[in-house]
Amino acid sequence: METLQLIKFVKESYGFNVNSLKKLNGYDNENYLIDSEKGIKFILKKYPFSKKNISLISSENDCLIHLNKNSNNSYPAPISSRNDEYLKIIRSKKSKYIIRVLSYIKGNFLGEIKVNESILRSLGECVGNLSKHLKTYSNDSISSRKWEWDIQYLNLNKKFLNYIEDPNEKKIVLYFFQQFDEFVKPKLEKLRTSVIHNDTNEWNILLNKNKELGIIDFGDLTESQLVNEVAICMTYASYDKLNPLYYASLVLKSYNKIIRLTDTEVSLIYYLMAAKLCISVCNSAYSKKVNPKNKYALISEKSAWSMLKYLIKISPIHAENIFKKALNRKINKPKSVKKYIKERHSIISPIFSLSYKKPIAFDSAAFQYMFDKYGNTFLDAYNNIPIVGHSHPRVSKAISYQIKKLNTNTRYIYDQLYDYGSRLIRKFPKKLSKIYFVNSGSEASDLAIKIALSHSKNKNIMVIENGYHGHTQRGTDISHYKFNNKRGQGLKDYIIKVPMPNTYNSIYSVPKNKTGRKYAEDAINKIDDVAAFISEPILGCGGQVTLPKGYLKKVYKEIRKRGGVCISDEVQTGFGRLGEYFWGFEMHEVIPDIIILGKPMGNGHPIGAVITTDKIAESFSKGVEFFSSFGGNPVSCAAGLAVLDVIEDEKLQENAKNVGNYYIRKLNKLKKEFKVIGDIRGSGLFIGIEIIEENSKRPDTKLAQKIKNELRKNRILVGSDGPHDNVIKSKPPICFSKENVNEVIYTLRNILKKSI
Ligand code: PMP
Repeated sequence: METLQLIKFVKESYGFNVNSLKKLNGYDNENYLIDSEKGIKFILKKYPFSKKNISLISSENDCLIHLNKNSNNSYPAPISSRNDEYLKIIRSKKSKYIIRVLSYIKGNFLGEIKVNESILRSLGECVGNLSKHLKTYSNDSISSRKWEWDIQYLNLNKKFLNYIEDPNEKKIVLYFFQQFDEFVKPKLEKLRTSVIHNDTNEWNILLNKNKELGIIDFGDLTESQLVNEVAICMTYASYDKLNPLYYASLVLKSYNKIIRLTDTEVSLIYYLMAAKLCISVCNSAYSKKVNPKNKYALISEKSAWSMLKYLIKISPIHAENIFKKALNRKINKPKSVKKYIKERHSIISPIFSLSYKKPIAFDSAAFQYMFDKYGNTFLDAYNNIPIVGHSHPRVSKAISYQIKKLNTNTRYIYDQLYDYGSRLIRKFPKKLSKIYFVNSGSEASDLAIKIALSHSKNKNIMVIENGYHGHTQRGTDISHYKFNNKRGQGLKDYIIKVPMPNTYNSIYSVPKNKTGRKYAEDAINKIDDVAAFISEPILGCGGQVTLPKGYLKKVYKEIRKRGGVCISDEVQTGFGRLGEYFWGFEMHEVIPDIIILGKPMGNGHPIGAVITTDKIAESFSKGVEFFSSFGGNPVSCAAGLAVLDVIEDEKLQENAKNVGNYYIRKLNKLKKEFKVIGDIRGSGLFIGIEIIEENSKRPDTKLAQKIKNELRKNRILVGSDGPHDNVIKSKPPICFSKENVNEVIYTLRNILKKSI
């Protein structure tokens, strides 16, 4: 519609001359600033005609009339036309529009000025007053509104999820959707409700010269939980700040002076803020696709994403504590760690060890972050089981969906067994074509040996020193790491052990490029009636020791020649962690006869597998039936499938390679600075840092333990291992970022500076 036509319309309908008419930004309607002849300003709003819009705008006007009874100049007042109408309908060539005029609220948008603490305090008060004024207001049309921008209906935004292109961003939104369903919605539904403004963002709040605040744009009015109003305001007040929770608390504190929030309401604010941000980014992603020219719809997108990425690192308990502290409320104090330990030891034997001198009591976790019961965030640089990240929403969803539908065993037919099994098998060379599902790495290694013994006529099992393959009796028999322990059972007579081929600290005085061959020859010399040779491609418990190039090739050849089979334990090294390789055996250019899988396979859901050739499977099939009650159940298969999907969709193997290379580069730099770092080794995000006494290769166990415990004090989780427990192990979820690496390196450098 032409500007001149609008000016004419205003004159005719409202009876004042228009000096100028300027188009303003609008989300899904057009807004104009009118300068009238008397110097009075008005806002004209133009909407596409629809019954829905008529109803919404009438309600908005009704609410504004109510609010203007309580306040002057804080909220726009609807201006009636000459014939006492608040809404006018006009027609242009093709379309019909609704027009309304509002009084003009003077001031600068908070979005265009530097917002200080005092303004944020006033903002909380201003929104508190708004809530007070709206407490006595109700409107059937507003109450019946059920739409995407109302936090209580967060789930309506799920349809926009696929518009978020970056899988690393999408997973955060999906995570918060799930958290909301599980931990917020049931509580939210019981809270008090009110009509709320629902969009107190920095472009809807004005500050005038007298430092008074005004609120505009009531187009998002809705009846929702009252606490959503302050949560939304806190979000926008803090989402572009460095310390968001502090600024959010300022708003909360002054709001609470006007409207006292209950403890339950305060406890949900963290999640409600996240929910609001999720709504915002979902709608931005959608807008970008359908209306790429509407820049206004994307105005808050960048800040919203950075705040969501900030919140994912924050413990919900921490946020609740900060908010409660700001309100002088009692903070829930969990038991002391000492009490937790005492309780645990009353039923759990101390044979289950606890990590660190100061053990940690955890409450929840998200991707590479773990949150203890006291609200602290720990960066998980250690845990290799949740390979795609703790509480990954796609894995949680797959498990929860499947358990609600069907969970049974391999004696029946169901899709998941074949779907997952065939998908996994495709990840291996063709000759590895049969799969057995079990429940853990231990069960897998136990079964692998059973299968090998059924196939080979030989009797003995050859293992590498410091190798670890499981906790069952057979697992212990084949794990030098366990049986060789001071308190261990010792070497069984059917076990042949060969030295760990350590190229950094070799037992042979031959040039470095010859050590691999020497170790291989040594192993080959020990082959005697061997049914199976089992090894990890990189020995985790041995201290992240990578087998030297050519070692496996030589040993495998001899083992096979003498009737044995070769087993690769990929429990730690599998599923893309090594970056360059999806499986550890690939780095040694061999194809094993049997492979065992576990740990990361279900991202924490207990599932393991044995994979072998047709021929070996055939030998095993001649024996008694193999059945595992839970092995290969539909829920476990669904978890496994989701893990593979996530690794592929989030390009996590590539991430393990990029971030791993960066990590190793940074560690090598640190090695040059600190002579106590003897060796940096590993591949991708499977890394070992060997700590030694300066100018020697002697292990410094004490220092390694100190470093590990100091990192824990700084809330970074790593492990330690190796025969002398002097190798720091880092094998984080493979969504680990370069920013996370920088944090580890920065802290490690500080610890090393202080420790030596
Ligand atoms: N093999 C290796 C290489 C392992 O690291 C482990 C566990 N640490 C296992 C097997 C046994 O797996 P689980 O603990 O799942 O039984």
